[in-house]
Amino acid sequence: MAVKIFDTTLRDGEQTPGVSLTPDEKLRIAIKLDELGVNVIEAGSAITSEGEREGIKKIVNEGLNAEICSFTRAVKVDIDAALECGVDSIHLVVPTSDLHLEHKLNKTREQVKQFAVDCTEYAVDHGLLVELSAEDSTRSDVKYLTDVFKEGIDAGAQRICACDTVGMLTPETATKFYGPLSNLGVPLSVHCHNDFGLAVANTLSGLRAGATQAHVTVNGIGERAGNASLEEVVVSLYSLYDEKTDVNIKLLYETSKMVARMTGVYLQPNKAIVGENAFAHESGIHADGVIKKAETYEPITPELVGHKRRFVMGKHIGTHTLKKRLQETGLRVDDEKLGQIFQRVKTLGDKGKCVTDVDLQAIAEDVLGILPEKAVELDELTIVSGNKVTPTASVKLSIDHNEIVEAGIGLGPVDAAIVAIKKGIKDVADIKLEEYHVDAITGGTDALIDVIVKLRMGDRVVSARSTQPDIIMASVEAFLSGINRILVEDDFKKS
Ligand code: MN
Repeated sequence: MAVKIFDTTLRDGEQTPGVSLTPDEKLRIAIKLDELGVNVIEAGSAITSEGEREGIKKIVNEGLNAEICSFTRAVKVDIDAALECGVDSIHLVVPTSDLHLEHKLNKTREQVKQFAVDCTEYAVDHGLLVELSAEDSTRSDVKYLTDVFKEGIDAGAQRICACDTVGMLTPETATKFYGPLSNLGVPLSVHCHNDFGLAVANTLSGLRAGATQAHVTVNGIGERAGNASLEEVVVSLYSLYDEKTDVNIKLLYETSKMVARMTGVYLQPNKAIVGENAFAHESGIHADGVIKKAETYEPITPELVGHKRRFVMGKHIGTHTLKKRLQETGLRVDDEKLGQIFQRVKTLGDKGKCVTDVDLQAIAEDVLGILPEKAVELDELTIVSGNKVTPTASVKLSIDHNEIVEAGIGLGPVDAAIVAIKKGIKDVADIKLEEYHVDAITGGTDALIDVIVKLRMGDRVVSARSTQPDIIMASVEAFLSGINRILVEDDFKKS
């Protein structure tokens, strides 16, 4: 039987510090999760606010395949709010550790067990499916925890869930803990937090021990260090345990990107499965191996999860990768020239720099003696910025020797300048600024500023850099050199 995926991106995930989604954003994520194929979508906690209820209702009304669930406490008003939203099920949570009972609720074990039973009966009577869940279950008296579950099941709970609320399990204790709970006659969920980086490992252990459903979030977002990550759990099951889920893993990367964009919680580059470096290679030995046969340094193909392989240029680069990259940009070089370019790239790498596409182009053009054509040149730039002034920029550009004058406003002077340039070039190129990194190389306000940008036009992505004392000029020049790089490649491909 396939492991069931209970996605709580929109509830536990939204409890990530600093994350708050509008009802429409929640709906868009829910539609994506449904397309991905998760079995249950915990859409939120209906009692929270009017906006939260609006979001849950929108998701319910979308008629998705997934079961739509609301989090509730063991109080009737919470269940009434969930009923008002029309959800299929509730994730009914009661704390079971003495720590929580005494210090948070100030109630006895008997009282809390009775709340669980009463609320389960009330919800079931009103047509809801109840997943009865124990908060801080892994620090609870197991006998008491089991009693709560047993009485809840007698009262009509159709699933149970044991939460490792502060991430205290290990893969070994997870096996011992979840094993017996999986024999109570209803499906058991594993809900693990990542305080020690073990959420995924513990989830897998719980599933091996007999649990049949995993609570996860996209990108592992959630309170503190987050929850078990959906993509890591699902792909581990698929690739390492040969166990099926209903998730279409080809959609994992795009789902991850969407959730990162909408929550504003961006991923560490080395995040497993969906991180930007998950299938990136720099070292010559690795890149060469991957070019010859991907399995040498990739456990799964990036295509499996909808991701892309990437080769990064730096001091660890090998000649094979460099040659491939040069060919991709349309430059054919003989072995002698390749050797010279290779040395120059290594020298730049030794200075602690990663080599952008534009750096490589400049090096190659220099070695090959090509005079670079610039499609867009900056003739003038004026910036107005300060207190009680809307940051405004005007530019005079020459585009293929035609003069264009444009102006733009922005959140700050850099933004205003980029807006003005984008307006100026809109007839020749539809460029998207995908990434913008600023580094002050030396200390102090007179520091050299290093700006690296990543630009996209259609499916072409180009990185470019500029290093200058003036942050606005560094940004503008990096942006312009990226634009020129894209337009030169464009010309080359057309001709
Ligand atoms: Mn949680």
